[in-house]
Amino acid sequence: MKRYSFCPVCGSPYRPLGSPPAPVSNLLLCSSCGFEFWQNSKPAVGALVTRIVDGRPQVLLTRRAVEPHKGMWDFPGGYLENGEPPETGLARELEEELGVRITRPRLFSMGIDEYPRDDVAEEARFVLSLHYRCEIPADARIAAADDVAEAAWFPLDQPPENVAFVSNRRALDELRAAWASD
Ligand SMILES: [Zn+2]
Repeated sequence: MKRYSFCPVCGSPYRPLGSPPAPVSNLLLCSSCGFEFWQNSKPAVGALVTRIVDGRPQVLLTRRAVEPHKGMWDFPGGYLENGEPPETGLARELEEELGVRITRPRLFSMGIDEYPRDDVAEEARFVLSLHYRCEIPADARIAAADDVAEAAWFPLDQPPENVAFVSNRRALDELRAAWASD
């Protein structure tokens, strides 16, 4: 895990803090100018899009074209911009990745994921994933782009083995349970 070496305000080297130790996973405190670099999980949004084919629900998944977990299946979505409302970010990501316009976003589940790469910066290590159910037009033409290699529909009760991220696998379980109880 990479850690910052210098204070972004005054440029002093970050030094290990004296006692009592601060919660270093949350905060980088500059011992020179006192600037506190607060660290918390990065917010991301994912779209749970379903359709019915021959009476059975299917879910739309996208194959990751970028690390981490390149080649694994994911929900379409991505990181929120700074200050961006989640529903706005969801709509933006679906436009960018699939060229589709979503409607009726409803928050469905959320969870924390940990990025696995050793070279990711400490401040990008944890992701708060917000999963929204939403609709796309029935005749939408899905065109994978951006950091998505392809998009495909899977039976909700038979998702692929290699789904990236714990929160995605749990959201799939919860979505299946929601369908079963409908
Ligand atoms: Zn400083």
